[in-house]
Amino acid sequence: MSTRYDAIIIGGGHNGLVCAAYLAKAGRKVLVLERRPVLGGAAVTEELHPGFKYTVCSYVVSLMRPWIVRELELARCGLQLIPLECSFTPHLEGPGLCRWPDPQRTREEIAGLSVADAEQYPRFGQAMGRLARFVKDVIDQPAPDPASLWPSDLGQLARHARAFQQLSSADALNQIKLATMSAADLLDEWFESDALKAPMSCSGIIGTFLGVRSPGTAAVLLHHYMGEIDGASRAWGIARGGNGAVSEAIATAARGFGATIRTQAAVARILVRGGEAAGVVLDSGDEIEAKVVVSAAEPRLTFLRLLGREHLDDDFVARIKRYRCRGSSGKVNLALDRLPSFTCRPGDGLHIRGDIAVAPSIDYLEEAYDEAKYGAFSRRPYLNVVIPSLLDPTLAPPGKHVMSIFVQYAPYALEAGPSAWPSQREAFGDAVVQTLAEYCPGLEASILHRQVLTPWDLEQQFGLTEGNIFHGELTADQLLFQRPLAGWARYRSPVPGLWMCASGTHPGGGVMGAPGGLAAKAILSAAVV
Ligand SMILES: Cc1cc2nc3c(=O)[nH]c(=O)nc-3n(C[C@H](O)[C@H](O)[C@H](O)COP(=O)(O)OP(=O)(O)OC[C@H]3O[C@@H](n4cnc5c(N)ncnc54)[C@H](O)[C@@H]3O)c2cc1C
Repeated sequence: MSTRYDAIIIGGGHNGLVCAAYLAKAGRKVLVLERRPVLGGAAVTEELHPGFKYTVCSYVVSLMRPWIVRELELARCGLQLIPLECSFTPHLEGPGLCRWPDPQRTREEIAGLSVADAEQYPRFGQAMGRLARFVKDVIDQPAPDPASLWPSDLGQLARHARAFQQLSSADALNQIKLATMSAADLLDEWFESDALKAPMSCSGIIGTFLGVRSPGTAAVLLHHYMGEIDGASRAWGIARGGNGAVSEAIATAARGFGATIRTQAAVARILVRGGEAAGVVLDSGDEIEAKVVVSAAEPRLTFLRLLGREHLDDDFVARIKRYRCRGSSGKVNLALDRLPSFTCRPGDGLHIRGDIAVAPSIDYLEEAYDEAKYGAFSRRPYLNVVIPSLLDPTLAPPGKHVMSIFVQYAPYALEAGPSAWPSQREAFGDAVVQTLAEYCPGLEASILHRQVLTPWDLEQQFGLTEGNIFHGELTADQLLFQRPLAGWARYRSPVPGLWMCASGTHPGGGVMGAPGGLAAKAILSAAVV
C-alpha cells in the first residue's frame, strides 16, 4: 500500500490540473492520475508526424478565466497567448468576408454585403458584451440552487438578481431571449445578410447536437462571446505551443506547489469503504488511498464505470444515465507542405492568420445538421480551420504548416451504430478535405500527414463519453444548478469523499479552468482535507 494522499485527482485534463494546483497551493498532499501518456486531456499538443505538432483536440483559447491565470501565475509557468488576426469566411463566388480586430475595417467589409448590417454589427457586439459581463459573474462562482434555502444560495441568487436588474430593459429582454431562441432567429432580429449571419451563428452550434435553427443555440453563442485575452474582451487566440501548452503551464504550477502528477496511470475504479470514497484502484491493480477522490473525468464515466451503480441510489443512476453527451463534432489535423491559397482571396495574408469558417449560408449549416440527425456525417460539413503555425512557427518545420480543422457534424450514433466509425473514419476525413479544397484547390496535394478524429475516437482515446467535446451538452437544462444534475451541481457527489471538478460540472466545457478552480475552492471550504 502506497502513501495516503489528501486528494487524488482522476484525470490530468486542464481542469484536473487546475484543481490539483489549488489544493496543493493550499498545502494539501495531492496526486494526479492520468490515463494517457501525455497530460492535458482535450487540451493537448502531440507530435504525430516528425516535426509537426498538432493541437490535437481544442485549438483556440479565450474562455480561460483570468483569475486562474493570475492566481496560479500561469504566465510565469510558460503560458503565452497569441491573438487571432482575422475571422475569414471564404465563398465560392465573390471575395468572401473578413472580420478584423479593427472595427473600421470590419465595417467596410460588412458594408459590401449590407450597409444596414455594417451599422448594426458593433451594436450587436456591444449588446452581447454587456450580457457576457453579466454571465461572467455567474460562471466565476458556484451555481446557486434556486430550490435551496441555504443562506449562501439565497445570498448569491439575490446578487445575481440585483445584477440582472441593473441591465437595461432591452438587455434584460435579450438575456431572456438568448436562453430560449435559436442562433439563426436571434441573428435574424439584428441582421439581413445571410453571408454575415451564417459565420456568426456557428458559435451557437459548437459541440452541440443542434442546428443553427434549433432553440437554445443562442445561449451557446453567448458562451463564446465571453472570451477574453489579456483583458481584450471577445478576443480569441492560440497558445504558443498549442493547447497542450495551457495544460503544461498548469501542470508546472501544480508541481511547483508540490503536487505529484503521474501519466499512464489509469484508474480502474474508485475505492469505497464504509460508504465513503477512500482512494482508487489502478488498472495495474495498485491501490492508492486518499481522504478525498476528485474525478476530473466525464460524469457518466465517473459514476457508471469508475464508481459503480451499486454505490448509488436508483434515482441517481437513472438521472445520470439520461445526462446527454451526444457527440456531434470531429477533428482533422493536417501536416502541410505549403500554405493553402483561397480562390476568393489568393495568397498568404492576414486573412488566414485567424480562424477560417466554411459556413457560406444558414441553409448550408442547417443541411449539414440534417444529415447528422439521421445518423450520417455531413458530406458538406461546417468547418472551423486554424493554421496555428502561422502565428507560432515552433509547431512545424520552416516553410511547413499544421492545420487544425474542427468539424460538424459527425454524430456519435451513426445509423449502423458508433462502432461503425472506424470503417467510416477515412471517408469522413475525405469529405472534410474535399469540402475545404473547394475553397482552396490543391489542398490535397499539399498534405504530408493526416489525423482524423471521429466522436468514437474522442471517446476511445480521450474518455469523452459519446465523443461530446464538453463532457455533456451545454443546453439550458444541463447548465448552472443542473450541471451535471439538479441537487449535485456543487462539485459534491452522493458518495461522501467523492467530488467532481471537470467540464461536466458548472460552468461547463471549454478551456477555461473554472470547474477545476471552483471545485478546489469548494473542497477547501468544506474543510474535508
Ligand atoms: C475536438 C475538440 C475541439 C475543441 N475545441 C475547443 C476550443 O478550440 N476551445 C475551447 O475552449 N474548448 C474546446 N474544446 C473543449 C475543451 O477542450 C474541453 O471542454 C476541455 O478541454 C475539457 O477539459 P477537462 O479538464 O474538463 O476534461 P478532459 O480534457 O476531458 O480531461 C479529462 C482527463 O481524464 C482522463 N481520464 C479519463 N478516464 C480516466 C481514468 N480512468 N484514469 C485516469 N485518467 C482518466 C482523460 O484521459 C483526460 O485526460 C474542444 C474539445 C474537443 C474534443
